[in-house]
Amino acid sequence: MKILLHNHSLNKAIEPYNDIGFVPTMGGIHQGHLSLVNKSKKLSKKTLVSIFINPKQFNDKKDLKSYPANTKKDLAILKKNRNVDFVYLPKFKDIYKDNNFPKIKINKKDKILCAKYRKGHFEGVLEVMDRLTDLIKPKRIFMGKKDFQQLYLVKNFLERKYETKVIGCKTIRNEKNLPLSSRNFLFNEHDIIKVETISNRFFQLKKEIKTQRQINKFLQFSKKEIEKMFKIKIEYLENRNVRNLTISNTFLNSKIFLSYYFKGIRLIDNF
Ligand code: AMP
Repeated sequence: MKILLHNHSLNKAIEPYNDIGFVPTMGGIHQGHLSLVNKSKKLSKKTLVSIFINPKQFNDKKDLKSYPANTKKDLAILKKNRNVDFVYLPKFKDIYKDNNFPKIKINKKDKILCAKYRKGHFEGVLEVMDRLTDLIKPKRIFMGKKDFQQLYLVKNFLERKYETKVIGCKTIRNEKNLPLSSRNFLFNEHDIIKVETISNRFFQLKKEIKTQRQINKFLQFSKKEIEKMFKIKIEYLENRNVRNLTISNTFLNSKIFLSYYFKGIRLIDNF
């Protein structure tokens, strides 16, 4: 596993390959990230993981400050996995020194879910993905369905501009169904048990909506009930079509999307 600290070493290392699988991350490496790496290993000649906490996608500076960063630990986990060929650890200027990139604008119809509540977040995500894709020119990019809206927007954006394919990969969860997330590292054991309980209550909704005609009305009602029950703030709880992310009141081809805060940490899921 080769560690690439700047663009010069990146260019030199990847130049011989036209079949690179790319796994972009912000570190805090866990089994969810490794599942993307393993998928890339199966489909690509070489696998490159980037670790870059992109400040431009943090609308909340407190969130950026508390974001769990431990590069040494991340590198040890990636090395042990044995499926990673390159790890790219760029500095801010490696990504942003080129001024020839267009300003990103999110369409009005896409300003839903996280885009509605995190102003500027996806503009930041699309900008960094545009720049990383231009630098690395991967054949495929592997991204998690846990961040479904991110996957949806990045795929639409990059596949229009580059030849790169963006592959959505399934959400990895712990034995209690909680999706793995770098932000879980900010919780103690006690918090995790509580979050698992909350998460299970949300999961029950998937069964409950099967018999509902007005699914989103029902979810609005459940939102209030769950907020009261667990004393949490739910940002959104909506059933949407997986193809175009429009509100859906049918069970078919749809998922429940949710975002909530527990102890000041923002968590998202979809199922
Ligand atoms: P992050 O480091 O949180 O920005 O995530 C990097 C990539 O890993 C993104 O494509 C995420 O969607 C993906 N990812 C994060 N958590 C999971 C998970 N539990 N299962 C699968 N993919 C995940």
